Amino acid sequence: MRLRNIPGSQDVIDHSPYVIKDAEKRRGSWRELFRNDHPLHIEVGMGKGRFLMELAARNPDINFVGIERYTSVLLRALQKVERLQETENKTLPNLLFICADASGLEEIFAEGEVSKIYLNFSDPWPKDRHARRRLPSREFLARYDKILKKDGRLEFKTDNKALFEFAIGELEPAGWRAEKITHDLYADHEMMRGNVMTEYEEKFSSAGNPIYKYIIYR
Ligand code: SAM
Repeated sequence: MRLRNIPGSQDVIDHSPYVIKDAEKRRGSWRELFRNDHPLHIEVGMGKGRFLMELAARNPDINFVGIERYTSVLLRALQKVERLQETENKTLPNLLFICADASGLEEIFAEGEVSKIYLNFSDPWPKDRHARRRLPSREFLARYDKILKKDGRLEFKTDNKALFEFAIGELEPAGWRAEKITHDLYADHEMMRGNVMTEYEEKFSSAGNPIYKYIIYR
């Protein structure tokens, strides 16, 4: 992911109707913002937004929020939704974005407010001393635990074997359980049903890398 600051990205973000600027103020009232009582699904570390845009188009009865910490990356997602509007005259009223670091999730969503959490191709942070920064780490699982509703699910996909093994090892100490696990998503017909590709997934699966996935609950 390119992290260089793109001139003007902050301005575009500030003026986009798809971006919620005062996300902490929406804590506990995302339903009011979407003006319906549909379930709320979020992607943490959404990157350029392809996955959530596709999900939002396929599922108008679910609200989606994408969280991305870099303005330069979020800008790409905004350009994509704008293109969709210009070329296909399509809007996605059930999709919103937040530019924030996921360590503050509990300030953005109230207890049990989120029905599903997606983590896709999260940064691996390979050094041991950075393990706490990994989005499937026990520290982050504790945050997800607070905002996810009781019978909610978290889905994680990656091509990174070491990160996946780490993520599996974090489940028990964090009090989570695996509902489904695959070490080769593309060979698992049941788990592939309805699969929506992310930008990173396209790159890695077309290079022949196996994709790992789990669905977890607690
Ligand atoms: N999910 C997308 C995909 O599958 O194509 C993007 C994957 S990319 C490797 C990881 C993204 O997560 C980057 O855009 C990064 O900026 C974002 N990210 C990593 N840690 C984050 C955090 N703590 N809070 C918010 N975003 C984060």
